[in-house]
Amino acid sequence: MLWQIDIENPHLFINLESQVQKYICKTCGYVYDPAVGDPDSGIEPGTPFGALPDDWVCPTCGTPKSDFEPEDAAATNVPLMEPVPA
Ligand SMILES: [Zn+2]
Repeated sequence: MLWQIDIENPHLFINLESQVQKYICKTCGYVYDPAVGDPDSGIEPGTPFGALPDDWVCPTCGTPKSDFEPEDAAATNVPLMEPVPA
């Protein structure tokens, strides 16, 4: 049953990656990057999306946190390794 372990590990990896997960505003396309934060709103770099205050809104259009979605929602199937140009 090693196959099941191989399948579950990537899922665990994704959960850990949520600490640096980028989130996209579904209204305007603004990307919240935890590594950058949102200095204009008093959010320091290194703040995970999940740690943002409940009243935080998109700095561009004012959309609430609840209308953001994980950036990798469409990139889950992208290979982690890209071909290296010769
Ligand atoms: Zn927005």
